[in-house]
Amino acid sequence: MLLYARQHIDEDDIAAVSEVLRSDWLTTGPAVDIFESAVATFVGARHGIAVSSGTAALHAAMYAAGIGAGDEVIVPAMTFAATANAVLYQGATPVFADVEPDTLLLSPDSVRQKIGPKTRAIVAVDYAGQPCDYDALNDIAAGRDILVIADACHSLGASDRERPVGTLARMTVFSFHPVKQITTAEGGMVVTNDECLAARTRRFRNHGLSNTHKERAVAGSWEYNMVDLGYNYRLSDIQCALGTSQLAKLPGWLKRRAEIASYYDCVFSSSGFVIPLRRRDRVKHAYHLYVVRLSGAARSICNRQELYTQLRAHGIAANVHYKPVHLHTYYQSRFGTGLGLCPVAEAAYERILSLPIFPAMADSDSRRVVEAVLAVATRSGERQFCEC
Ligand SMILES: *Cc1c(COP(=O)(O)O)cnc(C)c1O
Repeated sequence: MLLYARQHIDEDDIAAVSEVLRSDWLTTGPAVDIFESAVATFVGARHGIAVSSGTAALHAAMYAAGIGAGDEVIVPAMTFAATANAVLYQGATPVFADVEPDTLLLSPDSVRQKIGPKTRAIVAVDYAGQPCDYDALNDIAAGRDILVIADACHSLGASDRERPVGTLARMTVFSFHPVKQITTAEGGMVVTNDECLAARTRRFRNHGLSNTHKERAVAGSWEYNMVDLGYNYRLSDIQCALGTSQLAKLPGWLKRRAEIASYYDCVFSSSGFVIPLRRRDRVKHAYHLYVVRLSGAARSICNRQELYTQLRAHGIAANVHYKPVHLHTYYQSRFGTGLGLCPVAEAAYERILSLPIFPAMADSDSRRVVEAVLAVATRSGERQFCEC
């Protein structure tokens, strides 16, 4: 089965992890600092705080932003549930905003409509790997007591007019789950230029303690003090060593992702059967996902379920990202959300499919995907595809 995403682990990665296993530190040792600086430097941010998952990073960002009971946080409907769940972890209320129909990125117009007196933050999701319109979102937040946070779990390595993801919002959150650009198995990071937000995030990942074991060692003191309620959201040295080793390969992997995407773009744009998402002007896309929408012509001969099933029969495990969060049972039953709240995301959900894209894919793999999709299209009898 060709999966929609897959990690790539080589001998360097294995050696990096083995080295930590033979060292004095398995967790919160030197490898954490090295990974944090490497990621922060890569994205051009001052501080990086490694945590145990992208979800933990979102939760920590909510805490650092001071989000609590009575607050509202705007999130896109088209995202993984964790984006909205992190708001709930802090006792606040997620407010679902709609997305743009051609990019599925958070719509600034919808955000403007959803802002109210209780809005304290906007979490923008760089869907599929391209940055949202942070200029517009930051403008909306400016002059109000609203913090813009980037859920960049899809977009490590992307940029907007040469400005890297990691610098476009006050805080940016990454995930290192195996399907993402680089992996630490489970893992995540918050990056920010803000000293205070960074300090709060560090404290939150370590039980809300006022100092770390390293600071106590330097001070020659055993004393610690819990000043707020935090969690154990630490990332281990074993995982951070893997992350640093992976990061070195990221630029090449991004190039390979872009190459596969441009081949797909070329074939599918001319097919009229499935439609690629629009890429925003002057954006460098990180292509975590390659998402197509079934065209009207496609829907006259098959539905998304049928295309999904046919691809599986060809050994291709496509996927759907995402069922809009407000349509999940938990949100519907607890918050009374449902159909009609975010019509663009809801309509997109019926038509989207994520096709395989990952750096280790061979050209023969992407050709196989194209041929399988076009084989279904051929049934429509209007096959006119250009060679790419
Ligand atoms: C992957 C992902 C997360 C959660 O990351 P984990 O590391 O799996 O916890 C959050 N938001 C988005 C948009 C994601 O894709």
